[in-house]
Amino acid sequence: MSVEQLEALKNRLAVLGHRDTRLIAVSKTHPASKITELIRAGHRDFGENRVNEARDKFPQIDLTGIPPGSSPIYHHIGPLQSGAARQVAGLFGYAHGASSRSAIEALARACRARLEKDSQFAGMRYLIQVDLTGEESKLGGMAREVLLAEPPHSSEALKFVGLMTMGPSDGDPGRTRLAFQELRRIRDTSFPGAELSMGMSGDFEIALEEGSTMIRVGSLIFGSR
Ligand SMILES: *Cc1c(COP(=O)(O)O)cnc(C)c1O
Repeated sequence: MSVEQLEALKNRLAVLGHRDTRLIAVSKTHPASKITELIRAGHRDFGENRVNEARDKFPQIDLTGIPPGSSPIYHHIGPLQSGAARQVAGLFGYAHGASSRSAIEALARACRARLEKDSQFAGMRYLIQVDLTGEESKLGGMAREVLLAEPPHSSEALKFVGLMTMGPSDGDPGRTRLAFQELRRIRDTSFPGAELSMGMSGDFEIALEEGSTMIRVGSLIFGSR
């Protein structure tokens, strides 16, 4: 079921001329077996928003016979909390929901510690979530002024790779587009070449039109939660 949905979505991306956009399959609330199924069908990028859920689920994913070059890449897409930094560093390759300097510093410390202990660890990458809808309390995100006040942390252990945002929670297409356009403008002006993580099941087509390089799609692949 999910494999067919994933294929249909990939076809849609190709039709829209965005075959190369990175598609993160958001598997939160769905069992490890679903993730295993998609890995066997050749998919690599998966998103989870809860650290505890990921910690319990990832070890149950069956990777027997999967060559290292096809092994999954896990994206933490929920709000990044300083207290969870150690766990995030041990579980995920990417964090999309960094929205405070203190949380980024905590993650950088955790990644450094892991780098010293684990020669296999290639470092983590992160994106800063920017609040462009004024719904800060609900959806999280760094205020634009804070983002632009000083260059983001970037190191071997924790590399800054881009910006993430969410559209307004009412899903209004016009305001969604404005938020995505604004994120792109900030990227073009201040972080040229950086990734843009924007677009979910309900608004990924708008996001693609506005230059998204990573979309995070859950329900359209796995069904409703
Ligand atoms: C759940 C979630 C998604 C995916 O949402 P769908 O509407 O199911 O596609 C994307 N991004 C974040 C941050 C999420 O929490």
